[in-house]
Amino acid sequence: MSFQVNKINDRLSVATQLNARELQALKEQGFKTIINNRPDDEETGQPRSATLSEDAKQLGLAYFELPVTGANITDAHVEQFDNIVENQNGPVLAFCRSGTRCATLWALSEADNATTDSILKQAQQAGYDLSALKPRIDQRREATAANIAYSVTHDIVIVGGGSAGLATAASLLKRQAGLDIAIIEPSENNYYQPGWTMVGGGIFPAEKTRRKTQNVMPRSAKWIRNKVIGFDPDRNAVLLEDGQQVGYKRLVVAAGLQLDFEKIEGLSETLGKNGVTTNYQYHLAPYTWQLIRRFKGGTAIFTQPPMPIKCAGAPQKVMYMAADYWRDNKILKGTNILFCSSGAVIFGVKAYVPTLMKYVGKYNIGLNFEENLVAVDGTSQTAWFERKDENDKVHRVSRKFDMLHVTPPQSAPDFIKMSPLANQEGWVDVDPTTLRHQRYENIYAVGDCGSMPNAKTMAAARKQAPVVAENLITDRGGKHINAHYDGYGSCPLTVERGKIALTEFGYEGKLLPTFPKWLIDGTKPSRLAWWLKVKIMPFVYWSLMLKGREWLAKPQLKPDPKTGL
Ligand code: FAD
Repeated sequence: MSFQVNKINDRLSVATQLNARELQALKEQGFKTIINNRPDDEETGQPRSATLSEDAKQLGLAYFELPVTGANITDAHVEQFDNIVENQNGPVLAFCRSGTRCATLWALSEADNATTDSILKQAQQAGYDLSALKPRIDQRREATAANIAYSVTHDIVIVGGGSAGLATAASLLKRQAGLDIAIIEPSENNYYQPGWTMVGGGIFPAEKTRRKTQNVMPRSAKWIRNKVIGFDPDRNAVLLEDGQQVGYKRLVVAAGLQLDFEKIEGLSETLGKNGVTTNYQYHLAPYTWQLIRRFKGGTAIFTQPPMPIKCAGAPQKVMYMAADYWRDNKILKGTNILFCSSGAVIFGVKAYVPTLMKYVGKYNIGLNFEENLVAVDGTSQTAWFERKDENDKVHRVSRKFDMLHVTPPQSAPDFIKMSPLANQEGWVDVDPTTLRHQRYENIYAVGDCGSMPNAKTMAAARKQAPVVAENLITDRGGKHINAHYDGYGSCPLTVERGKIALTEFGYEGKLLPTFPKWLIDGTKPSRLAWWLKVKIMPFVYWSLMLKGREWLAKPQLKPDPKTGL
């Protein structure tokens, strides 16, 4: 990246990484102060801050170090940045890798002085799109206005009352009835999302996967029907959409992940019509089944975006269910099925690949790996994919379709990405075994929003919830937390109607079968696994997991290495 200076206002400019030569030029342009917002060693060849500091001082420039990463900008950083800029006698230049971190610090520091729109516009004019920062700027302004008057403080606050949040609340209450727990959840309904593959395959009606939130919320927990827009971990508070703040002693973040439909050009306009569908939304899974049932032959494309996504097997489960139906109805021969995946292999855990390849052959599925869906035009039924050639040059490939099942790109929710709780990739930055936050000891994450490198599944949340409950209660009692999560996740692959390969694995792809091999061998399709998925798992979800009954999900306890207890 060549050196570039972008002016924010007369007092502050922000820039890309600089070196000693550029310091000289900056001095000649009249800058008096340099702020370095970049930690050392982010990339090879990056000048060390101590060296730059020496060089700056020799030129008579003031030099400040305030290293931040995109994910860990706290209110304290913002205040320090603002103090430095406000107290200099002359123009200040802040730099990081691209200037975005400096612009972010500035934008947050401006919350009390200007409207959010004008701050974002000013940043845009300087070349920085900070629109994702909007909720946090609003939050800072409102926090000041309210002078941090929390509406209320609870012992435990859970952000997100989906699968993982409610399971954690239930597990906490099973351990200690009467705990003061508030669950912040905006949705009227709770969903059993693993059932959506079955809805798209015509096995379940959609309604079987949905219940009213009020009917599944633990009775003694307080439901705050609202949306969280920001976190203030230094003050133990979360900010709600309506401007209220809720304080906590301990916080569990369970807000799931976000579906980024808008990252694919034209998709939102055509989803639910023109043969374009997804099982990733409650209201669209029935349309998948409608398309499968009415299909008369032609080209059916199934896409898979870059990982991580929830239920990494779901993009292909729907494909096998469709292919099997078309085979039964004698239209498979006239059908061209394509699996277009941005991944390089059909499934990340090798043990399951032979079975999947057998079905790929049986249904005559064309595999197009390292191909990423980027645009869709519903009217002409055309999809565009990007793929790299041997020289890493990106090419666009267009494909016509009669049916397109899209698995959308996914990422951490924006309000988490922009918060101090996030890691570099935007997920809540927790220890992968204890699920406790890496920097804030009274915060935990559970479910899809956590940084743990497990397969993001309900099965994982079912095992994680008791771990978080156990550790949080132990920590409340002032003891060393000792419940460990081994990365368990499960993705039952519906390879045909009536048979499932029950994949169960943990960190680093280690196979973690629940049942003995003679009963269910997860690497082979089995009728018993299908029966489990269709008849037993919905019951496990509604009647065990959400009630704190930890069937086959008791947390593993490990002794404290120091005390042996
Ligand atoms: P969710 O259940 O999505 O809950 C997140 C909650 O947070 C939601 O209720 C949401 O309203 C709330 N929230 C969001 N933003 C905010 C905010 N700002 N403030 C407050 N609350 C907020 N898993 C399996 O184990 N097996 C399967 O076979 C399987 N198949 C799947 C098939 C499909 C098509 C899909 C979509 C998923 C599948 N999964 C499967 C994955 C599984 O459903 C998820 O991993 C699981 O639901 C994650 O639980 P969660 O609580 O982290 O997220």
